[in-house]
Amino acid sequence: MVNQNTIATAALRMSRPTSAFIDTQAFVANYRYAKSLSPGAGALAVVKANAYGHGAVVLARALADGADAFGVACSEEAMELRESGIRNPIVLLEGAFDPAEIDQAAAQGFTLVVHTQSQLDWLLAARPVLPLGVWLKIDTGMHRLGFTPEQLATAHARLAASPNVRDVVVMTHFARADEPDDAATDRQLARFAEAADGIEGPFSLANSAAILAWPATRDDWIRPGIMLYGSSPFDKPHSAAAALAPVMRLESRLIATHDLAAGESVGYGGRYTCDRPTRVGVVAIGYADGYPRHAPDGTPVAVNGRIVPLIGRVSMDMLTVDLSTQAEAKIGDPVQLWGDIVSANEVARRSGTIAYELFTRVNRRVHLVYR
Ligand SMILES: *Cc1c(COP(=O)(O)O)cnc(C)c1O
Repeated sequence: MVNQNTIATAALRMSRPTSAFIDTQAFVANYRYAKSLSPGAGALAVVKANAYGHGAVVLARALADGADAFGVACSEEAMELRESGIRNPIVLLEGAFDPAEIDQAAAQGFTLVVHTQSQLDWLLAARPVLPLGVWLKIDTGMHRLGFTPEQLATAHARLAASPNVRDVVVMTHFARADEPDDAATDRQLARFAEAADGIEGPFSLANSAAILAWPATRDDWIRPGIMLYGSSPFDKPHSAAAALAPVMRLESRLIATHDLAAGESVGYGGRYTCDRPTRVGVVAIGYADGYPRHAPDGTPVAVNGRIVPLIGRVSMDMLTVDLSTQAEAKIGDPVQLWGDIVSANEVARRSGTIAYELFTRVNRRVHLVYR
């Protein structure tokens, strides 16, 4: 077991029982599942933002033998992987932020997304030690990053003719692939096909939602992110997402229990008032650990493996649950906030957010424990 976040002594490490258990085998299995859906395609394992809060170095090491490439947001994230011995190709998904990064990328073997004219100009004007891999991004409807479809042919030809460029993957990104019944993805796909007419590829279109729900988008390279962490990108059940295995179990323990009379309120603002005599449990995790402060009364929490409702406002270091159905629950008993019993998607939905945000907000105070 590795405890990446802990800088204190072993004795201190155990002081607060708030941990995220990370199942590296589930991560590898989810990657294999993504690959199995797209036979023959390369798969860029997206490990940006510290692997969506799961710890990029350990997960990249777990996958190093199998990963076709890793995707990160910036060269700091890519350097962290290189410095820990990861030799796989790494794609910088926002490309270079200034011309100096081109030289660094060449020296480190990073592949650069090119999504603006200035990034393209920097690359063509550079004197890199080795030619770079490039992922040329076009905007087919997301309207965030990328060249227009009309600019693709020219940009592609300039890159292909440059001695600074080793090879070019043409990519785009979907805005609504997590809505399997919405036609927006079909429109983006059609725009891509039209723009890329005459270019042989390779192409990369699909994020997790597209890999799972839009088979026509799985092309030469898929780009799975959230599905690698075992979380469905859809807000409704989807058959292709059922095979995903959760990677993170966020856990803590009960640190106090109380029996309150009807009419008593719990926590800041007295948001929850007991309508009957109520057994209340206090759990050592709060919004400063990354649990959402917006979680409403009734959000599921598992105590001793059984679901009870959250009651009262989430505090910085603690939250409270209704233990009325668990008379025997006591101090020290295990609590799961999300994982295999409570789905992170359900906590996210109730709190008005998505599992991506819950995972990436898990704070460094939470011990990451790898199995
Ligand atoms: C983050 C990211 C992904 C992964 O998206 P998921 O929805 O997590 O699968 C894929 N492609 C790009 C360009 C990204 O930035």
